[in-house]
Amino acid sequence: MRKDKLEHYKELLLKEKQEVLNELLETDESAKALLEDESHNVNDSIDLATSTITQNLLKTMNQKNQQKIMAIEAALRRIGENGFGVCISCGSNIEESRLEAIPWTTKCMKCKSDEQKKKHQIL
Ligand SMILES: [Zn+2]
Repeated sequence: MRKDKLEHYKELLLKEKQEVLNELLETDESAKALLEDESHNVNDSIDLATSTITQNLLKTMNQKNQQKIMAIEAALRRIGENGFGVCISCGSNIEESRLEAIPWTTKCMKCKSDEQKKKHQIL
């Protein structure tokens, strides 16, 4: 994937992460205290979106946001490791329209729908 594309998705991911964190900070005082504590330790003016999400902070989130934050962090790592946008199941490139909607996805549309079909069969 081209570098400017990667930058674009990185921005989308960071923005999404920031939104989850903002929502958390607005609704949860203890999370706010935690994050402030940690930013003092690292840097005076740490950027919320790029700060590391710690286990403590994760614990204060609901499961949905937890999974989302972890998926976003994993996607950011893949950008750093040049593995972003590749389906973990079949190895082909994930559709750009899909990445645009869900930049933290790890599977292409075909594998995702195969997976859902399988789940359906089990149930
Ligand atoms: Zn695939």
